[in-house]
Amino acid sequence: MNGLRQWTGPLTQDLVLKPGDFGLGQVPARLKPDATATTVCGFCSTGCGLNVHLRHGEAINLSAAPGHPVNFGMACPKGWEALTPLRATDRATTPLLRNARGELEPVSWEVALGVFVERFKTIQQEHGPDSLAWLGTGQITTEELAFLGALAKMGMGIRHGDGNTRQCMATAVSAYKQSFGFDAPPYSYTDLEESDVLIFIGSNLCVAHPILWQRVLRNRNRPQIIVIDPRKTETAMAATRHYAIRPKSDLILLYGLAHLLIANGWIDDGYISRHTTGFEDFKEFVTRFTPDAVAGETNLSLQQLQGLAEVIHAGQRVSLWWTMGINQGHEATRTAQAIINLALMTGNLGRPGTGANSITGQCNAMGSRLFSNTTNLLGGHDFENSAHREKVARILEMDVSRIPSQESWAYPRIIEEIDSGKIRGLWVVGTNPSHSWIDQQPLNRSLEQLDFLVVQDMFTSSETVQRADLLFPAAGWGEKEGSFINSERRLGHVKKVARAPGQALADFHIFQLLARAWGCEAMFRHWSSPEAVLQILKELSRDQPCDITGIADYADLSAAGGIQWPCPDKTRLRDAAGDRLESDSGLDGRRLFADGRFFHPDGKARFVFEAPRPLPEVPDANFPLLLLTGRGSAAQWHTGTRTEKSAVLRKLCPPAAYIEINPVDAKLLGIAPGACVCVSSRRGSVLCTAFVTSTISRGQVFIPMHYAVANQLTFPAFDPESAQPGYKACAVKVTPVV
Ligand code: SF4
Repeated sequence: MNGLRQWTGPLTQDLVLKPGDFGLGQVPARLKPDATATTVCGFCSTGCGLNVHLRHGEAINLSAAPGHPVNFGMACPKGWEALTPLRATDRATTPLLRNARGELEPVSWEVALGVFVERFKTIQQEHGPDSLAWLGTGQITTEELAFLGALAKMGMGIRHGDGNTRQCMATAVSAYKQSFGFDAPPYSYTDLEESDVLIFIGSNLCVAHPILWQRVLRNRNRPQIIVIDPRKTETAMAATRHYAIRPKSDLILLYGLAHLLIANGWIDDGYISRHTTGFEDFKEFVTRFTPDAVAGETNLSLQQLQGLAEVIHAGQRVSLWWTMGINQGHEATRTAQAIINLALMTGNLGRPGTGANSITGQCNAMGSRLFSNTTNLLGGHDFENSAHREKVARILEMDVSRIPSQESWAYPRIIEEIDSGKIRGLWVVGTNPSHSWIDQQPLNRSLEQLDFLVVQDMFTSSETVQRADLLFPAAGWGEKEGSFINSERRLGHVKKVARAPGQALADFHIFQLLARAWGCEAMFRHWSSPEAVLQILKELSRDQPCDITGIADYADLSAAGGIQWPCPDKTRLRDAAGDRLESDSGLDGRRLFADGRFFHPDGKARFVFEAPRPLPEVPDANFPLLLLTGRGSAAQWHTGTRTEKSAVLRKLCPPAAYIEINPVDAKLLGIAPGACVCVSSRRGSVLCTAFVTSTISRGQVFIPMHYAVANQLTFPAFDPESAQPGYKACAVKVTPVV
């Protein structure tokens, strides 16, 4: 650790904590000591309802909520083990500050907050408004995300902030915005049950979203289930058809399918003319993607291509689903839009069982997309639109000049500017970039270079915390209240069911204290509780596509098992006598675009397309294999900071990094099953255990993302539209360790 970063200066901020700032870890009075509280899972974006059982005010166990409209009493291993990480021995229980010996040592909250303010203000004064940044997360509540984004940008004047949603959902955001006019995933989970053809592209649903796979299994239409994925994943094995395409030939395949559908007249001309623009140009563009050319690029046969086009044509209700196999690519936005184009040209949008459907990653990535104040101004508004800035300023009762008129730098640019020395102070909230960032070693060198790194986290042990100058101990899921927005746009109420340990505080509370310490508390005088912020968010959403003004409060969300946006003011749904015309259940299971009206000013969706580009790094004589990455098992979550705390979850996955390799490649390289191998790319070398399996094709290998070694190898390619990293493909070599 750089000695210059150790803080020894005076505390100029005269911070006085109010009585009750600490010891707030009581279960809220609204929960009885021996109650069962239904909350929403804090891992993935499925948003399962979990019943947490309390005894004497302590959360002692949980079960999947039987009547919840998302999961109907089911949960995956992570959900069942959701309480376990809260009891981990490495919980952060007090603020920690790096001392003169380079060790993190406990300090009071007064000292911690004072140091934060002193250091960040000093950097800002000495190096200008671009010298600070923050990185947030899709794992905290919507109210906290909004508070972080508003406090940092408008209260503290920190211009640049982004979140780890850049790593998972930025592509879907760009694609939907450009194609539909707003970041609007159109579907409900009921579409999984109502399709007669489901096409999963770059999505291993069985592992990544196990409960959504259970929803597929409830489908009574005996659907065709198509999986397009280079690997024979668990989902591919369960599918009716698997197309093992050459890695990252997905865009060419999708354009080839469009070509075949057009050539055969298997398109919906009426839908295209009424609801879209740009089709004629697209039709001309895809003429070059002939079956012969596409077969050569994708490793599929002409019969497979024709068969796939025929299935799409024969389907009455075709839904297309994608996740990280698409979002994390070097031309990801155009690939996602090629999926959208297929749905538009065949009229598979707005009807039950249809849609071009991006499945979200983290539990609150959708909350981050709409309310984190990073790429969008609060509520899906536009920083560069003066009317939007004035609306937000009026609602927040602040001077409009406090709102930036430009978007922040995106995550990769923030890292670049740390490296260049422009950004000198960084605040990381609820994420672990030292493990999860692509090509992690340069990032870690950049973090070492910062004048001041603050991390706000539940645990003391993450790779990023190890590099911090200051740690704010944060409460975790289950120890605080708020709302999440899941993949189908459903806001769910997240309840406080446990006490945070020691002096750990809810992120919301930390933001309140920081506002006070920074001297901008008055700007946030109405941000008194998460539920008060929900009321502010409602006003910010008014008349936006994501309008939630019809949601009354948390009790409303809880009673309904969550409510999907849009949910405009329910008074619009009442008759003259004030009786409700549409019940809460009538607001459930809805999809967007049933009326064929999109969010562009002309009400039409756009065909967006671009010529495919080659992979940034292809195998060669020195690095002859292509490394793929992805999720390993349903028991693992991202960098493992929580799931590795559970002995149950640890038993459900290999303890150390492994690499999947085809038996033929393994034999040629002299690698026996279970052998230790060295995996090298141009960025680094790591050790793994060889898992010899024919689920991976020859010439390819696979390492799960949950092991930190994976990102010592990955190549830093970024989608130019979304700035999302392309984690999925880079060149490596594998050698036995003797
Ligand atoms: Fe939680 Fe996702 Fe598992 Fe449901 S599927 S229990 S939301 S991790």
